[in-house]
Amino acid sequence: MTLASVNHATMHEMNTALVLNTLRLHAPISRAEIAARSGLNKTTVSSIIRTLLDNHFVLETGASLSTEVGRPSVSLVLDSQAGTILSGELGVGSISVVATNFALEIITRRYERVQHLHTLDACLRRIIELFKEIQAEAQVTGRPIFGLSLGVPGLVSADGTLVFAPNLGWRDVSIKPMLEQTFDLPYIFVENEANLAAQGETYLGPYCNSTSLICVVADMGIGGGLMLKHQLEMGIGGFAGEIGHMTIVPVGGERCNCGNTGCWETVAAESAVFRRVERAIEGGQASLLQDMTGGDMAHLSIPLIVQAAEQGDRLACACLEETGRWLGIGIANLVNIFNPEYVILAGSLALAHAFLMPVILDVARQHAMSRPWSQTTIAISEHSADATVMGGAARIHNAVIQNPSQWLVATPTHPAVSAKRAKPRTPAPD
Ligand SMILES: [Zn+2]
Repeated sequence: MTLASVNHATMHEMNTALVLNTLRLHAPISRAEIAARSGLNKTTVSSIIRTLLDNHFVLETGASLSTEVGRPSVSLVLDSQAGTILSGELGVGSISVVATNFALEIITRRYERVQHLHTLDACLRRIIELFKEIQAEAQVTGRPIFGLSLGVPGLVSADGTLVFAPNLGWRDVSIKPMLEQTFDLPYIFVENEANLAAQGETYLGPYCNSTSLICVVADMGIGGGLMLKHQLEMGIGGFAGEIGHMTIVPVGGERCNCGNTGCWETVAAESAVFRRVERAIEGGQASLLQDMTGGDMAHLSIPLIVQAAEQGDRLACACLEETGRWLGIGIANLVNIFNPEYVILAGSLALAHAFLMPVILDVARQHAMSRPWSQTTIAISEHSADATVMGGAARIHNAVIQNPSQWLVATPTHPAVSAKRAKPRTPAPD
């Protein structure tokens, strides 16, 4: 290949990525509008769209309302059937695996509680089995499977090793190589669950493209994803965002699984809510939750506690209110430190937003400095408990859009850059 042809291929790849990204952000949109928004000329846009139509990446949806002189223009959207994305979350008490289409809609889901097989090998074996199941279902469509993402609750190094997961007690588990040996897919990502969630919140949905966003993922523990100036803040070793382990009860705090005491997640995570309910019931307080769990506190869940609170159960309401107070204090600290545009609450506690948010807003406003507070919006993730899997799917989606040529088979009249589907030679950009 000559230098000129390499440059042409690179330019064509970049232009195709630009067209796909314009479609992602603005569809339904006409060819002329794509040209206007992207700065590409109309001939280039038309040629790229022809290739994308031939490869089922784009659909024509009929005439758009806006018209060029003398003729209506046709609207285009990304084709949801272009291919499938596999995304999973290895949580502290559960495994969640989904397949999404290219419109990032969940089309298949598997969810399991995992207390009964809470060993490292059993968990990893099971999540691989579930991925294989949904991969087999996706293969029936005959469309490509773009990649696989797995979110994990702990520190993850750049090579996909789970360095430390405090709430699982796991250290130095090489998860990514294991997935790469099992699945022959172009993209396989293993990342911290909250980092994925934050990337998802800034890629799709109402907070898409926000400048600075902090995602607080409150499940059994609390993870944090920091998107600052459109970039995921990783810290010097890739471990930034461990907000669940900021010390928030300096004296007499509960022991945390990280080895410290008084960490934020010991008072504000799902595990803290459960502990409050259990201790109150052991202390003799009456609650609907006794009947709802059949007297077995192992059956406690956030949806169940919300259900009790909705029926006016005083214990459930009090436990959620106390949790909301601690969440509000931690969020005030985040607002003061980072001055973010958004703080988004995700994870299982987002399911209790009707009870938590009024308290969070009240307490955070009291503790945050007024100027940064006035510039921050505190909101609930639209994906709530799916924030991590949707973030992982968004990560793969973005990788496909940024490096599209490997998926585009050349057509006689409109040659694409590469007819061969191969593993990408360079890592996908964030
Ligand atoms: Zn801790």
